[in-house]
Amino acid sequence: MPRPILATIHPAALQHNLSRCRLAAPDAKAWAVVKANAYGHGIERAYAGLCGADGFALLDLEEAQRVRDLGWRGPILLLEGVFEPRDLELCSRLNLWHTVHCDEQIDMLAAHKTNVPHRVFLKMNSGMNRLGFTPERYRTAWARLNALPQVDEISLMTHFSDADGARGVAYQMQAFSRATLDLPGERSLSNSAATLRNSAPTSDAALSPEDVVTSDWIRPGIVLYGSAPDYPQHTRTDWGLQPSMTLSSKIIATQSINTRDSVGYGSTFVAEKPMRIGVVACGYADGYPRVCPTGTPILVAGVRTRLVGRVSMDMIAVDLSVLDDAGVAVGMGSEVTLWGRASQGTVLDIDEVAHAAGTLGYELMCALAARVPVVTEAC
Ligand SMILES: *Cc1c(COP(=O)(O)O)cnc(C)c1O
Repeated sequence: MPRPILATIHPAALQHNLSRCRLAAPDAKAWAVVKANAYGHGIERAYAGLCGADGFALLDLEEAQRVRDLGWRGPILLLEGVFEPRDLELCSRLNLWHTVHCDEQIDMLAAHKTNVPHRVFLKMNSGMNRLGFTPERYRTAWARLNALPQVDEISLMTHFSDADGARGVAYQMQAFSRATLDLPGERSLSNSAATLRNSAPTSDAALSPEDVVTSDWIRPGIVLYGSAPDYPQHTRTDWGLQPSMTLSSKIIATQSINTRDSVGYGSTFVAEKPMRIGVVACGYADGYPRVCPTGTPILVAGVRTRLVGRVSMDMIAVDLSVLDDAGVAVGMGSEVTLWGRASQGTVLDIDEVAHAAGTLGYELMCALAARVPVVTEAC
């Protein structure tokens, strides 16, 4: 029998989460953002659940090739554009749309030989100071692109730094709107958090009208994978999302320990009472964060309990006393859910585990280790 750790991808959840985005932006077209190998899910595995999108947005030419190999004939957008001149040849060949965020990329386009002009997304740096032309330089870039025979339609794009937080999107919206007022072309602004803002839970007094963003093309990523972009302010269930990845394993040993016995490296957990612990086949070499402390939630046989002691490379320990006290029979071979959906239906949100590790669901999904076997649930 293989080591019992397993990741399961849920295409039906991806499909549901995509519809949830469409509900928040009913008039917009939707890019399914599948960079980083579909946030660790695997592009090929995620495809069935996301092929209802209007296009796929990603970073790597190799990933774009894989989406074409799956039979996708619709739009594909390179979110960082091209990195060197010969990338444009592949753009022409695979019919890729690409972001243009700097003068060097315009130079490359101007030198590119193609019979088919390219659709480009001109990126504005509206305040995040990562990629894009500043509002002052945006029009010049637009005019340069517009004069090139290599360029077909120009769409306008920016990215928000604080759509999930207190600062919000208004400061960037103002910069973007002012600089693009009379420019033609479709607009693409909203990531997951900005998309969901449009349908914020009504209890949310924090949201003002200028927080509502309209995009011709929304660019949801993390919501597709069932994680709340603004956790813990809102949870997955607040937003009506379903988890698209489950990481599960099994108990491979149990220990009955006494008061003052310790568990694991560094003896960081010391029992305050006699208790049973389960040893689980999952460690940081599987992508479970080593920094998760004692108390991190975990499901055993679908029942919520906690991690105890340090995460080691291949194993963690869980507190079985909650289950023993409740009379739930568990032992070697019992199912453990690190995040996602247990077979009897209980869900442990990846956001809760990520929060315990001081990070985001994004990082946990993307860090799923190569040694973990992955299966796709039937739709
Ligand atoms: C990653 C990315 C997104 C998606 O972000 P989420 O927060 O996952 O929704 C959207 N736009 C750009 C430019 C990105 O790089």
